[in-house]
Amino acid sequence: MILDLFSLKGKTALVTGANTGLGQGICIALAEAGAEVIGVARRSCEETAELIKESNGSFTEIIVDLSDKNAVTKITEQTDTLGKTVDILVNNAGIIKRADAIDVTEDDWDQVINLNERLVFFLSQAVAKKYMIPKNEGKIINIASMLSYQGGIRVPAYAASKSAVMGITKALANEWASLGININAIAPGYMATNNTAQLRQDADRNEAVLDRIPAARWGTNMDLAGTAVYLASHASDYVNGFTIAVDGGWLSR
Ligand code: NAP
Repeated sequence: MILDLFSLKGKTALVTGANTGLGQGICIALAEAGAEVIGVARRSCEETAELIKESNGSFTEIIVDLSDKNAVTKITEQTDTLGKTVDILVNNAGIIKRADAIDVTEDDWDQVINLNERLVFFLSQAVAKKYMIPKNEGKIINIASMLSYQGGIRVPAYAASKSAVMGITKALANEWASLGININAIAPGYMATNNTAQLRQDADRNEAVLDRIPAARWGTNMDLAGTAVYLASHASDYVNGFTIAVDGGWLSR
C-alpha cells in the first residue's frame, strides 16, 4: 500500500531545536508517523513532549547547548546512553542576527555560522559515521531557508549560512547516496515562529512580507509536517540532494 511507504514505525529520529517552532512541529509529525523521537534542545522540551503524548507518540529529550564545541560528542554519547541509534536526523536548530551589514560583529557572524552551518555538517558526519553507514540506511533533513536562494535584508551571516546548508545538502548527497543515505533539505518560507517575531512586530515589514506571499498568510510549524515525513520515509528513497521549498509560493513571485 502506498501509505505504508510513509510509515516511520521502528525508526528513531533525532531533531535539533525540538522545544519550539518548526522543530517542535517536525517532532510531532515524525512521532505521529510512528518514529521514536529524540529531541535535542538547550532547555526543556516539556511542551513538545506533552503534545506528542496526546497522540500516544514516543519522545525523549537530550539537553545540550549546541553552541558548545563538544555538542556533537555529547549528543552521540547521550543517544548511546538511551540505547538508541539514529535512523533520521533533522538539522533544524538555527539562529538569526539582524543588523546592517556594515555593523555586523565577528562574534555575531561566528555564532550564526557555527550553529547554522558548521554544526549541520559535523553532526551529519558523526551520525552518518556511527549509525547510518554501518546500516547502509539513513535520512538526513536539513532546514534551509528562502535565504538559501536570496540575500535577504540585514541578515548577511544568516544568508551565508543558509546558502551553505543547500551546498552541504548537495555535497553530502553526492558522497553518501550510494551508501543508502538520503540527504535533502526543506526551505521554509516565512513562518510564524520566534525566528520571525521581530519581523512580524514591524508593521511595515510584516505587510511587505504578507503582500508577497501568494498564499497570503504566514506559515505555521505544522505546514512542514507532510514534507518532513516524506523526506524521512521510504517514499523519498530516490530523492537525493534536493531542497524542497514549503513557502506558500514565495519563490514563484
Ligand atoms: P525558533 O523558534 O527560533 O527555533 C530555533 C530553535 O533552535 C529553537 O529550538 C532554539 O532553542 C534552537 N537553538 C538556537 N540556538 C541553540 C543552541 N545554542 N543550542 C540549542 N538549541 C538552540 O525558530 P524556527 O523558525 O523554529 O527555526 C527553526 C529552523 O528553521 C532554523 O534553522 C531557522 O533558521 C529555519 N527557518 C525558519 C524560518 C521562519 O520563517 N521561521 C524560515 C526559514 C528557515 P531556544 O528556544 O532555546 O532558543
